[in-house]
Amino acid sequence: MPPLTVALPRLSLAQLPTPLEETPRLRAALGGPRLWFKRDDLTGFALGGNKVRKLEFVMAEALAAGADVVVSAAGPQSNHLRATAAAARKLGLEAVLIMHGAPPLAVQGNHLLDRLLGATIRFTGSTDRSQLDAAIAAEAEALRRAGRRPFVIPRGGATPTGSAAYVAAVAELEAQCQAQGLRLDHLVVAVGSCGTLAGLWVGQQAVAAPYRLWGLSVSRPAAECAERVASLGAATARLLGLPAPEAPLPTLDDAYLGPAYGVPSSAAVEAIRLVARTEGIFLDPVYTGKAFAGLMALIRRGVFRADENVLFWHTGGAPALFAHPAALLAGEDE
Ligand SMILES: *Cc1c(COP(=O)(O)O)cnc(C)c1O
Repeated sequence: MPPLTVALPRLSLAQLPTPLEETPRLRAALGGPRLWFKRDDLTGFALGGNKVRKLEFVMAEALAAGADVVVSAAGPQSNHLRATAAAARKLGLEAVLIMHGAPPLAVQGNHLLDRLLGATIRFTGSTDRSQLDAAIAAEAEALRRAGRRPFVIPRGGATPTGSAAYVAAVAELEAQCQAQGLRLDHLVVAVGSCGTLAGLWVGQQAVAAPYRLWGLSVSRPAAECAERVASLGAATARLLGLPAPEAPLPTLDDAYLGPAYGVPSSAAVEAIRLVARTEGIFLDPVYTGKAFAGLMALIRRGVFRADENVLFWHTGGAPALFAHPAALLAGEDE
């Protein structure tokens, strides 16, 4: 197998490689398989997370297009918007962030960071997240009419260029596994816009890695995720000149997304506390807490053998913890 290289323009934003760590105290608490964390919460730039990897490629594309402002959309606690605004600032660009709903009463977590970054923030006034795509397009059109050069980044940075970052990340993981003599049996990741999982899927096939890939959705129904991973994966492979993906799609599960996207679930709160108290690692209430709650449920159902190696790809998100103190401490003594 030739080494996998991703030959696209790329900026250096993230601290790479991120650590690959075993989490034995967490395993002891849960029983079951050996557990490993890929620490993309530690990509470093602007408080890190998976979006920093994507932005190394997406912002290179924006610069090549001659942009002077980037436009994207999500909610006030979006890690994607925080990282996008920070990357724009580092490159001397402006950022317009479109958010669903109304301005939150408390300026906390990622929203606070967006404000510190001096991003232009607009609220749609509607809680319907599907309206955001049209709002991005309208904003970009208004900017063009005003003589600006906007670059549109779709929600979550979910483009083939963004997913290419996770194809490259698979190569990074492979090198670490080889160096540590580790053979992974399962890889589990939180799924939102599906760009990360699509990249992992394409990368896995490019290096013929044998593990089973699991995507635990925190917002979309599993069937919708499957469609998005398939189409985004195919487009990513085309962009990189790789063969069209043929392997079965990742196992997608939406059973752990809780009451709604962005609303903490009690299972996620349990997962966040457990991982913090056994390993000193902070999950987040929107993505990784729910995905890890899903992994805990799979372990408790006996899906994995005790001699298997299961990797949880920690995609970051800790700033959103600060927006949910009451839910995170519910039921605790003073
Ligand atoms: C955006 C995000 C994800 C999901 O990644 P997608 O590529 O959008 O599927 C997972 N975890 C965190 C912390 C995120 O910010």
